[in-house]
Amino acid sequence: MNITDEIVSLYERRAHGAYFGEAVSELEHALQSAALAAGEGASERLIVASLLHDIGHLLHRYPENIADLGVDARHEIIGAAWLGQHFDEAVTEPVRLHVDAKRYLCATEPAYLAGLSPASRKSLQLQGGPMSLEEAAAFHRTPWTADSVRLRRWDDQAKVPGLVVPELDSWRPLLDATLR
Ligand code: FE
Repeated sequence: MNITDEIVSLYERRAHGAYFGEAVSELEHALQSAALAAGEGASERLIVASLLHDIGHLLHRYPENIADLGVDARHEIIGAAWLGQHFDEAVTEPVRLHVDAKRYLCATEPAYLAGLSPASRKSLQLQGGPMSLEEAAAFHRTPWTADSVRLRRWDDQAKVPGLVVPELDSWRPLLDATLR
């Protein structure tokens, strides 16, 4: 099985569960994230990062309500490490940093924190809470700040029940084109 088939199969088998306390499935969340990225003219690799940003949730074997158990599975680290076998850092870095981007936005934009969904606010605590000003300044200097913040905003919006967006198979050519 090639890597694109492996990824599509993983989402088909494991992404029908709820997306952590939200009203969409993991698959719907992934597809909506990719559609938002494409709609805003993101690069091919950033669209792929948006599609696959939560792949870590599908790779680990913790239960769906893991946050309720007080455990942070560090899905962004698991996902970026797995993706690093097949994609370059323009894909893996925004994935690895999308949780830090949330902590960064909470520290730098008061309205952002207020706009988070209840589930996302709950997981924020497990993820370390808003960054300190020192952490935010350091994060602001990394080369992937802009892409990870863009991905984060699509991530936050990609929770609309019943929204019709391009299906998983439609992203196969883009996956093939961006694999290393
Ligand atoms: Fe997400």
